[in-house]
Amino acid sequence: MQRVAIIGGGFGGLYAARRLGRDARVDLTLVDRRNHHVFQPLLYQVATGAVAPGDIAQPLRSILRRNRNTTVLLGEAIGLDPERREVALSDGGPIAYDTLIVATGARHSYFGHDKWREFAAGLKSIDDATQIRRRILIAFEAAEREHVAKRRAEWMTFVVVGGGPTGVELAGALGEIANDTLKRDFRSINPPDARIILVEAMDRVLPGYPEGRSRSAKRQLERLGAAVRTGTKVTKISGSQVTVEPTAGGPPERIPTRTILWAAGVQASSFARIVAAATGAETDRAGRIKVGPDLTIPGHPEIFVIGDAAVQPWKPDKPVPGVAQGGIQAGRYAADAIVARLNGEPQEPFRFRDLGDVAVIGRLSGVTSIPWLGPFGRTGGFIAWLLWLGIHIVNLAGFSNRLIVLIRWAWSFVTHGRGSRLITGEPLVPEIQEPEPPA
Ligand SMILES: Cc1cc2nc3c(=O)[nH]c(=O)nc-3n(C[C@H](O)[C@H](O)[C@H](O)COP(=O)(O)OP(=O)(O)OC[C@H]3O[C@@H](n4cnc5c(N)ncnc54)[C@H](O)[C@@H]3O)c2cc1C
Repeated sequence: MQRVAIIGGGFGGLYAARRLGRDARVDLTLVDRRNHHVFQPLLYQVATGAVAPGDIAQPLRSILRRNRNTTVLLGEAIGLDPERREVALSDGGPIAYDTLIVATGARHSYFGHDKWREFAAGLKSIDDATQIRRRILIAFEAAEREHVAKRRAEWMTFVVVGGGPTGVELAGALGEIANDTLKRDFRSINPPDARIILVEAMDRVLPGYPEGRSRSAKRQLERLGAAVRTGTKVTKISGSQVTVEPTAGGPPERIPTRTILWAAGVQASSFARIVAAATGAETDRAGRIKVGPDLTIPGHPEIFVIGDAAVQPWKPDKPVPGVAQGGIQAGRYAADAIVARLNGEPQEPFRFRDLGDVAVIGRLSGVTSIPWLGPFGRTGGFIAWLLWLGIHIVNLAGFSNRLIVLIRWAWSFVTHGRGSRLITGEPLVPEIQEPEPPA
């Protein structure tokens, strides 16, 4: 039996495991430090209260329960011995392998300012999403009770750092919450007065999309009341303000705010760094491992690195972008390569097929960039939103999740509600300095 270990049950790891689960010659072990697979493209919907955490995540054990050759382990990989072909877990191990698939994804990068992490919440896991949901909802609650105008304004200001798809979707959802969902829920404050500021260092939002789509996204965000500040970089972050500066030079500006959401940089997971150190593999500045055309580490044909943890070859001047399809297609490829080796067949190099991008902006609106649909792939508004809905529902893991999310969305669009607006976690109530109006 060929012992295959997969580290990481995200898009890459899960799609590899699904395919290998059908081959009786393989003894498969999948390790993840979380017990669930997360559909990350919908995390911001949890963060903004549109869907519940359980709707977009499913236990890996239950997804793979029919694969009799597969063992799912909850554990964190912290070491690799490529000579002995063993992975060490934080609570023991080792996991022995003949072939290893590293699919541990990426995490936030604060560009060397790790202190910012405390104030600027990033979005990568279900815990992050419920934390952001808490911060957003508590900000409105605090503003309702805070009677000092300056402090109320701080609570009513939301800064999103990073104008990529996550930042744009978060800012759009915030606009929708302020202008629509919460419009009638408060008495002292008027939620549509909330200031939503999206800060992006480059000269346009959605830099990976064609320019026309970026302009359309900006217009749609502005319609939702968000101020889009491109060509602007963040230079300081504290618990009550963000300092920004024009990238072209100019005086700094301080934006008082209590809610800062981080959607800017990413770096490879810490396990990717461990693998690189153990194998001598080359990495890029973000710590992603540079793999060969067959997605293995040069000199280590038994170690595949896939998805966000790798620099996967695509165009001469451009690797595969950090999108779900990059992980899914690589996961399937690695599984096929392992089966081909078992069959003694040759394997073609990995070829990424760009299926395009869709970002949704608020309610019933969005932008698409889908090259294979030609001019029809560059849409905006409602059509883009419909495409987004279709793609996400089809790709969600688990039929019951698809159905539940579809029904929940349909309901929230009819009622203009976001039914999962629960504040959880500690502290229970915000720190208000002057809760009652002066006598
Ligand atoms: C908020 C957000 C929105 C996004 N929106 C989109 C979108 O709209 N469209 C799109 O195409 N892409 C989107 N992406 C990107 C997409 O989700 C990623 O490109 C994709 O998840 C990468 O897949 P992966 O398998 O490489 O890593 P991941 O899916 O991140 O999976 C990595 C897995 O490894 C596990 N892991 C990490 N370290 C260890 C360890 N040491 N030991 C054990 N397990 C470990 C993690 O728990 C995780 O389950 C978004 C990402 C985020 C964060």
